[in-house]
Amino acid sequence: MPATKLDGTALAKTIRAEIAEQVAEHVGRGHRPPGLATVLVGDDPASQVYVRNKSAACAKVGITSLEHRLTPDTPQADLDALIDRLNADPEVDGILVQLPLPQGLDSKRALHRISPAKDVDGFHPMNQGLLLEGLPGLRPCTPTACMSLLAHHGVNLKGLRAVVLGRSEIVGKPMALMLLEQHATVTIAHSRTKDLPAVCREADLLVAAVGRPGLVEGFWIKPDAVVVDVGINRVEDEELAARIFAAEPKKLETLRAKGSVLCGDVRFGEAMQVASAVTPVPGGVGPLTIAGLLSNTLEAANQNR
Ligand code: NAP
Repeated sequence: MPATKLDGTALAKTIRAEIAEQVAEHVGRGHRPPGLATVLVGDDPASQVYVRNKSAACAKVGITSLEHRLTPDTPQADLDALIDRLNADPEVDGILVQLPLPQGLDSKRALHRISPAKDVDGFHPMNQGLLLEGLPGLRPCTPTACMSLLAHHGVNLKGLRAVVLGRSEIVGKPMALMLLEQHATVTIAHSRTKDLPAVCREADLLVAAVGRPGLVEGFWIKPDAVVVDVGINRVEDEELAARIFAAEPKKLETLRAKGSVLCGDVRFGEAMQVASAVTPVPGGVGPLTIAGLLSNTLEAANQNR
């Protein structure tokens, strides 16, 4: 029997409706609407789309979004100065610096400069430290999104063998901490892990966050495992597509029709034949990540009052 598709779009819609209600209540109590400042440096087309989507999502729930655009040749000192201004601005509850930054700019320095109270991406070392200690704080949106999806679908994490593929600060590491907090037994795998397929096959829950299209093949997955695919990859190469979409002819058709197609790190068609539940890409973790950002902005607004 094919696996259950873990739909993130429908859940994100419900969460966004709840946030819209909470924002209305916040405003009803006499506060101004929460304000999210986005900072986009340069003209990377994907980043422009992400920022546009985030602003549109804010507007739909009543959060004010304040967009700041800087040219690709902006010196670090100017970016620092903008972040300082936003940190001090009483109209701004949350600050999001869209990554990646153009070459020559230090993203860690920028992220560390954001006030932890306005760090709605949850990337500041203070918030990462609070997560490590299991204390309340603003938490990274993508792993939070994965956790809500798992909770919504009633996945009991206690005692589960979880493998997180990827060890980035924004996804892999916080994901592993959140799973550990919920009593899963967690392995973090990465590019130097030996015999990756065998490590992944031990997982009752496999979370893939590597940014490599279709890396995880069907035989890497333990029968009846739950698979969460965080990766978002654009594939244009037909040869690669023919390999990774062998069990998903519709993706191949889209690629041929449009010249490119989005996919995750997991071969979805193959995973659906082995796992018990799998998130699709698009329509899995992605929509929930934006919902997490809205929720963090509201939380920051409540805390910053
Ligand atoms: P990242 O910073 O590039 O980290 C990738 C991780 O994957 C690294 O730890 C790397 O290992 C590991 N890795 C790379 N190639 C590998 C391989 N062949 N075998 C095993 N491990 C490998 O990426 P990220 O920011 O965490 O993002 C990961 C993916 O999630 C990307 O596709 C990104 O677009 C997507 N993403 C999606 C959302 C969403 O809302 N759904 C949000 C954020 C990111 P090393 O540490 O050893 O180099």
